[in-house]
Amino acid sequence: MANSNSDNQLQPPPDNLLVDLRSDTVTSPTKEMMVAMSEAPVGDDVFGEDPSVQELQSRCAALMGHEAALFCPSGTMTNQIAIQVHTQPGDEVICDRLSHIYNYEGGGIARNSGASVRLLHGDRGRFDVDECLSNINPSDSHYARTSLVAVEDTCNKGGGSVWDMDDLSTVSQAARSRGLAFHLDGARAWNAFVVRGQWEDRKAISSYGQLFDSMSLCFSKGLGCPVGSVLVGSHDFIAEAHRSRKAMGGGMRQAGILAAAGLHALDRHVSRLAIDHHHAIMLEKALNLHPDVQSVDPVESNIVIFNLHGPHADQAVAALSQQGIACFAFGPDKVRLVTHLDVHAAQLEEACERLGDARWPAS
Ligand SMILES: *Cc1c(COP(=O)(O)O)cnc(C)c1O
Repeated sequence: MANSNSDNQLQPPPDNLLVDLRSDTVTSPTKEMMVAMSEAPVGDDVFGEDPSVQELQSRCAALMGHEAALFCPSGTMTNQIAIQVHTQPGDEVICDRLSHIYNYEGGGIARNSGASVRLLHGDRGRFDVDECLSNINPSDSHYARTSLVAVEDTCNKGGGSVWDMDDLSTVSQAARSRGLAFHLDGARAWNAFVVRGQWEDRKAISSYGQLFDSMSLCFSKGLGCPVGSVLVGSHDFIAEAHRSRKAMGGGMRQAGILAAAGLHALDRHVSRLAIDHHHAIMLEKALNLHPDVQSVDPVESNIVIFNLHGPHADQAVAALSQQGIACFAFGPDKVRLVTHLDVHAAQLEEACERLGDARWPAS
């Protein structure tokens, strides 16, 4: 069957590609990053002997104000390991209904951890403390034991929504004071740091880190790295995570060539995310002028979601594709565009002009 009314069906880019806005995972390593990778000292990381992996782990831990970190092949793996370490089979995890850990990790919470999920109905992925508290089960044998609260910052399905520091801190205190673990899916935490002006203020980042028991940070989104995510937490947490990673088959040998890309990205590719955010605002403005667009969700970082007048996402994606603009159906009546390292200002300006020529059903 064709992808009609599909959620998350990625189409290949068109032959006349102008700009690939399907995802911030489509970036390629820059030449400089390739050089850094090729020059990286390496060793067997399963033996704990890869200096580049160790450097990336210790830099991430220090930056976040935590004791330890673990380099893994993907953000799905860092999230799933964290969930496995924080829960026992039969426990319950609280998260927003838009969260990646629930929607896009292959049912991993049930599959890997045997845990159930309590979904909250927040504002674009951000929920308030009262809703969180009222969904913690009483400690009574009739109920699943609530053991973990997870948040996503920025929230992908929330259109790149950024958590407010005070709200996050309130939820963190409430959850942790009740003995629950608090996990961050920070696949795009770098974007959130830049939006909140924290990247230039390392103290602010470690204060943010203090809100969490564990943090998953991706390098393969928007930063140009080919592969890799880092899980951050206490010594004890990371020791358990290590066992979990092994059991999931995520131990890698000379992974230093990948870690070197992450180190390069930390130094060169985080501050520039501000450019991606600016590009996203330009797209928002252009889309707001389009007659067949019903509305554009407020842009907060590098993700733009626009809504259609009917279930025409596939037609809209096809029409934009004809103009050389590759994007992504994000539901029957929603389209997502994501800006990233490989989108240049000239391409973006041209895309904003060509957008106006794309047509799809107006109602
Ligand atoms: C991409 C993403 C992940 C992890 O994805 P991988 O492809 O497994 O690295 C996790 N959370 C969010 C919010 C994401 O967007």
